[in-house]
Amino acid sequence: MIYIGCHLTVTNGYEAMGHQMVDFGGNTFAWFTRNPRGGKSKDIVPADVKALLSVLEKEKFGKLVAHASYTMNLCSANPETRANGLDMLVKDIEKMEALPGQYYNFHPGSHTGQGAEVGVEQIAEGLNKALFPEMKTTVLLETMAGKGSEVGKSFEELRAIINLVDCKDKLGVCFDTCHTWDAGYDIVNDLDGVLDEFDKIIGLNRLKAVHFNDSKNERGSHKDRHEKLGQGMIDMDAMKRIAMHPAFEGLPFILETPNDDEGYIQEIATVKNWFGPGRRG
Ligand code: FE
Ligand code: FE
Ligand code: ZN
Repeated sequence: MIYIGCHLTVTNGYEAMGHQMVDFGGNTFAWFTRNPRGGKSKDIVPADVKALLSVLEKEKFGKLVAHASYTMNLCSANPETRANGLDMLVKDIEKMEALPGQYYNFHPGSHTGQGAEVGVEQIAEGLNKALFPEMKTTVLLETMAGKGSEVGKSFEELRAIINLVDCKDKLGVCFDTCHTWDAGYDIVNDLDGVLDEFDKIIGLNRLKAVHFNDSKNERGSHKDRHEKLGQGMIDMDAMKRIAMHPAFEGLPFILETPNDDEGYIQEIATVKNWFGPGRRG
């Protein structure tokens, strides 16, 4: 069984996203908590959230995976950018708490020349200010491609962040297949080896979600250019092996492939078909 979906826009509210994903044939989804390039986020309407919750229950959705703004950078060399990032994180978590028990994924950050070690410390510092023991949301660190000065390009860097965070039970990892490949992990020829390494360094219990993307570039390219399923360097056989690997069972799979609505509908159907025709979920 698989939970599969894609990014949707929150412009028409939360309930609308639930219905749209049902129409797309999926059973999970992602959305940007605010404009991907930053800026203000929409206010929560309690009745709208409640309506979404009943769609999720009725349609047996998996966990949802909200995505933070790309501009949120907890480890910028610029203190103003860092403070702004923390402000976004705090407000986003507050909003997520209206949808209890879901996932909130973010790019750990770019150290902008300070070095990964300082980056790790500043990311953990931000998380320690924003996370609290009573929260119901799980915050996911995304595996990164290592483009520019991105932190989170190795399992070791993600583990180093987790080590410094107090509320460790609120933290998980979102495994982006394009990013992990671009970072150099051989998920095509040695998926078991990569997942063993993940388990040894981070722990498979932290693995909470998958960003399911092919990659335009070679392994280790550090480019971060997503491709449609089966049309990139990871290829369809490897994508299928990933989807069907027991380590990923029951996790929400979010497509971030360069598609229009019709393309997503087709990819969702393709992935569902791997798990048997006509079977839901
Ligand atoms: Fe992302
Ligand atoms: Fe991603
Ligand atoms: Zn990416």
